[in-house]
Amino acid sequence: MEKLVSLCRRRGFLFQSSEIYGGLNGFWDYGPLGVELKRNVKDAWWRDMVTAHDDLDAPPGAPSAYDMTGLDCTIIMHPQVWKCSGHFDLFADMLVECKESKKRYRYDQVRCRWVDGTGMQIPGSDNQYASQPTRYLITTVAENEAEELEKRALKLLKVRAKDRESLKWDGPVVTLDTVDTADFDKALAPEATKPGTFGEPRPFNLMFESYAGAIQDEKNKVFLRPETAQGIFVNFKNVIDSSRVKVPVGIAQIGKSFRNEITPRNFTFRSREFEQMEIEFFCHPSQSQAWYKYWRDRRMKWWQDLGLAGERLILRDHDADELSHYSTGTADIEYAFPFLPEGEYGELEGIAHRGDFDLRSHMEGKLDPNSNPLTVQLGEDGKPLHKGSGRDLTYRDDVTNERFTPHVIEPSAGADRGTLALLCEAYTEDTAPDDKGKEQTRVVMKFHPRVAPIKAAVFPLVKKDGMPEIAKDLYRALKKKFPAFYDEKGAVGRRYRRQDEAGTPYCLTVDGETVQHGTVTLRDRDSLEQVRIKLDDVVEEIERRVTGP
Ligand code: ATP
Repeated sequence: MEKLVSLCRRRGFLFQSSEIYGGLNGFWDYGPLGVELKRNVKDAWWRDMVTAHDDLDAPPGAPSAYDMTGLDCTIIMHPQVWKCSGHFDLFADMLVECKESKKRYRYDQVRCRWVDGTGMQIPGSDNQYASQPTRYLITTVAENEAEELEKRALKLLKVRAKDRESLKWDGPVVTLDTVDTADFDKALAPEATKPGTFGEPRPFNLMFESYAGAIQDEKNKVFLRPETAQGIFVNFKNVIDSSRVKVPVGIAQIGKSFRNEITPRNFTFRSREFEQMEIEFFCHPSQSQAWYKYWRDRRMKWWQDLGLAGERLILRDHDADELSHYSTGTADIEYAFPFLPEGEYGELEGIAHRGDFDLRSHMEGKLDPNSNPLTVQLGEDGKPLHKGSGRDLTYRDDVTNERFTPHVIEPSAGADRGTLALLCEAYTEDTAPDDKGKEQTRVVMKFHPRVAPIKAAVFPLVKKDGMPEIAKDLYRALKKKFPAFYDEKGAVGRRYRRQDEAGTPYCLTVDGETVQHGTVTLRDRDSLEQVRIKLDDVVEEIERRVTGP
């Protein structure tokens, strides 16, 4: 992972936001190559899900033909949206605070392990040395957790590094939320010097707040959206009434979302500002299970087709106890990011069957997610806790004349997590011959040509004999179609290496043969195979190779 992070910075994929001021935790900027990569991910998604969707026939696996359309909503919406969606009351993570360091941690992200401290001289929470048979819970939030847990245990128990074998670990590494809070007096918080400084876990709302207008009072308080989905629900009726789409229909949106994550980490994986690619798919309740299965499989295949084809990508169905009770199915598409411990996966996309929870909440008032059947949640005064819009968001099928509240399937993907997974998957070290024919280690980003930031690079072999002129013309012709790069500096081998690191799938070299016979060398980034093709065919050939399936 460290190698990838350093390559991302060096080659301009990703920079820390506001880096010259020391950076801002949880915020990332995409550099010249990164912006193209992420844009390609979003464009591929929009094209495959929305613009290229064939609404005339049922695609493979779909219960019927369906419509797809798009939307672009504001980041700040009426505060009632978040009250009825449940985010105002429930969009919280549990945090634990360390009384000593004043640092806050996400409860389920603190990793910890018990170590036996029997007979050790330990500084107690009252700062006295106690010598008693006891166990200590060593905690960390560092990425190199095994190393960090050991270092902290050695320090606490005053064991020298060379005697590390004498540490008596008790059980595996677990997350803090699986430990009884009664044992917190034995826990050494991640940045504490002595045990017993964790407070009781408590909820922390992740929505960023701001004020709309000049007066900063409760009435003007607004929220930066923590997901793009709600903009779609509140516009459902507008879309149906203003276009010719009919249920079943998917409404798609790509846009920024904001979450004040307690512990942003793992590069862009957990950021405070990120982009989502979400579809709300509205269908008849009786068809919803079939549609849920369709979207679950369709979305998995989409990521596979984009280059995440290996074993690192999995589709995981939630167990019944993980489901919100109104959901009859949720699956996550997960990727084995290299910063996660062996065998663990991180969510790229969630596909959820949400029933009619959202549309009904925006009509009637926030529903109580624990009621069954779902009923409006009441406040202490017996009135709805959060009043709905009162608008009719039901749908009338003009063929059957049936009126119903559509059920919703929600495939919700992260553009940043997707881009990060593609970066991780692409990073490869192999060997390739240098200019003298000697095998050298090379770093190559094996992106699927469809998402590669630069599609082709053009090199004149030497800067004379008419080669640069031909190469520049070729470069200009390619640039009209897609991002291309022109490079005439240094040995050709070095130029290839620079493009390998950028993930450019094809390099074209103009040489003496080009001048004489009108052919160029096309070199394939992955196979290193070089073929000669006609100069006049290059643009068409590259276009054919980089166009998606
Ligand atoms: P997690 O459990 O990892 O916090 P989540 O289940 O809350 O994620 P969702 O609310 O389902 O995530 O959001 C849908 C998608 O948005 C996720 O699959 C992920 O790709 C993306 N996403 C969510 N939170 C973040 C974040 N903090 N940084 C980057 N992407 C995110």
